Amino acid sequence: MNLVYRVTPKQRLIIVEHALKQMQAFAQHRWWDREAGGVMMGRHLLDSHDVVVDEVSTPQDTDRRSRFNFFRSRMHEQVARQRWLKEHSTSAYLGLWHTHPEHDPTPSCVDRNDWQHAVAGDTYEGDRLFFPIVGTHCIRVWTLSRRGALRELKLEKKNARKEST
Ligand SMILES: [Zn+2]
Repeated sequence: MNLVYRVTPKQRLIIVEHALKQMQAFAQHRWWDREAGGVMMGRHLLDSHDVVVDEVSTPQDTDRRSRFNFFRSRMHEQVARQRWLKEHSTSAYLGLWHTHPEHDPTPSCVDRNDWQHAVAGDTYEGDRLFFPIVGTHCIRVWTLSRRGALRELKLEKKNARKEST
């Protein structure tokens, strides 16, 4: 199952099942589960303008993790770069994901700061990055544009297997 979110009337964000499972494996269902996160990698489809998340990086030994905090280490950049090399430079950096120990996740001030830093300082194609937060009940996705506009994406449909490939 893929998740499809509406970005603009012409653009959708598609999280493929593989990437979804990678993130959901770290959902904080138990009280001792710590926050997890990483970077998202994928493709900008030329014909449809859709953005496809194929893969995410998962927690690294060098991250600092607790129940209510996640500090991403520089290792994630290396993971993304290795994928980029492996995929003959077609793998794009699309944003950052992390988990929250809540049913229905909402971004904290720390999250918003982190996202602003990423949008202002990271190198990426297009005019926005995407920021999913994986809760215990659902995944919500926010997008922040280069101009600084933050908004949540609406989940369009849960299954788009055919359209993603
Ligand atoms: Zn957070």
